Amino acid sequence: MRRPPGAPMQLTTNPFEGDKPREHCGVFGIFGHEDAAAHTVLGLHALQHRGQEAAGIVTFDGAQFHSHRGIGQVGEQFSTESVIAALRGSSAVGHVRYSTTGETILRNVQPLFAELSFGGFAVGHNGNLTNAAAVRRRLVERGCIFQSTMDTEIIIHLVATSAKKTVIDRLIDALKQCEGAYSLVAVTDQAVLGVRDPLGVRPLVLGTLDGAHVLASETCALDIIGAKFVRDVEPGEMVVIDRAGPHSLRPFPPAGPRFCIFEYIYFSRPDSAVEGASVYDARKRIGAELARESHVEGDVVIPVPDSGTPAAIGYAQQAGISFELGIIRNHYVGRTFIEPTDRIRHLGVRLKHNANRALIQGKRVILVDDSIVRGTTSTKIVSMMREAGATEVHMRIASPPTTHSCFYGVDTPDRGQLLAAQQSLEEMRVSIGIDSLAFISTDGLYRAMAGEARDAANPQYCDACFTGEYPIPLTDHEQGGPPAQLALLADEI
Ligand code: SF4
Repeated sequence: MRRPPGAPMQLTTNPFEGDKPREHCGVFGIFGHEDAAAHTVLGLHALQHRGQEAAGIVTFDGAQFHSHRGIGQVGEQFSTESVIAALRGSSAVGHVRYSTTGETILRNVQPLFAELSFGGFAVGHNGNLTNAAAVRRRLVERGCIFQSTMDTEIIIHLVATSAKKTVIDRLIDALKQCEGAYSLVAVTDQAVLGVRDPLGVRPLVLGTLDGAHVLASETCALDIIGAKFVRDVEPGEMVVIDRAGPHSLRPFPPAGPRFCIFEYIYFSRPDSAVEGASVYDARKRIGAELARESHVEGDVVIPVPDSGTPAAIGYAQQAGISFELGIIRNHYVGRTFIEPTDRIRHLGVRLKHNANRALIQGKRVILVDDSIVRGTTSTKIVSMMREAGATEVHMRIASPPTTHSCFYGVDTPDRGQLLAAQQSLEEMRVSIGIDSLAFISTDGLYRAMAGEARDAANPQYCDACFTGEYPIPLTDHEQGGPPAQLALLADEI
């Protein structure tokens, strides 16, 4: 989205969030609860970290579908009684979205809804289809007219044009034509559906509440409504929740699961459990393994807030060095609109975080962060530590070097902007301006997660952003990206 001439620039005042990969979406669904919409709003609040740029809910009341979607956070869109009261019905699906600049327009906000030959159908999707452009081209040639630039709309068109009879068979037929990573929720006039791609790259869990059944990207969305966790939806599984309760279909041939290991490192909330493991515990174990692999003498271990905190605790406990909050966060600063002069921009990064000078002065500091993407954030933090009087600054990273982009629903810069893809470890150390730098090894990460080193022939997780081994074909990427008119459309909006 282009800034109008003369308009003030919007600064993200958190210097530690602008240089992270960003999860694209979170999904939520509920069937059989009289307060379906209100519970969906709460669920989306819990999933807000997975997407802050748009939110939407579609409900079904037994006769009609109701929808409210808008740009902004959940609290901005769903804060009035009248909006929630208008979302009548006992079944609902919801979605929070993060999108790259230029694509946050209302028609790109999910869940997408369409009146099809069999009735209404709404779908919300977390992930990315890697053959979306190829399938879209085929559909356009057949006369389909697209309203959005989202790959989710492809699923709608494939369902609409499927020759199968039931909506479930149509959705299965549609998904069999899609490659990529997806956890999706859908609502029809009969059921709420949840599906994970055959490798289960993105998370989806099933829960219960007062006899109703709930689907959500993470367990924290079950906790917020008091729902009980039942289980993870399995890779390649379709859960159909209707009046008979939830039942399970397995429409795809079995494939080795490849859950996104970055969900443990950064994306998921630490109070969630994904794939049977507490995210908080996983991060602590990764921090401890990091300390075993790359110990350095220091006086204090300091987390880079907030996502580096559990790994820093694990590191400090393993290393026997005191854990301290050396960077203090101001919780009352949101986004600010200020003039984009260099000096103000530089000061802006301190609005939300400041060094705890009394703690840092004269100390050898070990900073623990979850990842390095472009490295711009790390450079700012290091200079913040030195300005506060640190005598040495060491950095330990709770993930292997991020050397490859994600094509499965996470916004990462292309390889040219990934620091670790461009520089050696020593070059990175120098350019960040740090005394020592170490990343956890890929084997160390697997040891922390699965108890043993990575099995190269059969890795348990998707780890492509560290290894470049992509488990799902990158059809569009290999064919040169989206069609020109699609890229242009996204650019012009
Ligand atoms: Fe996760 Fe990285 Fe795989 Fe993307 S490429 S799904 S971020 S592990």
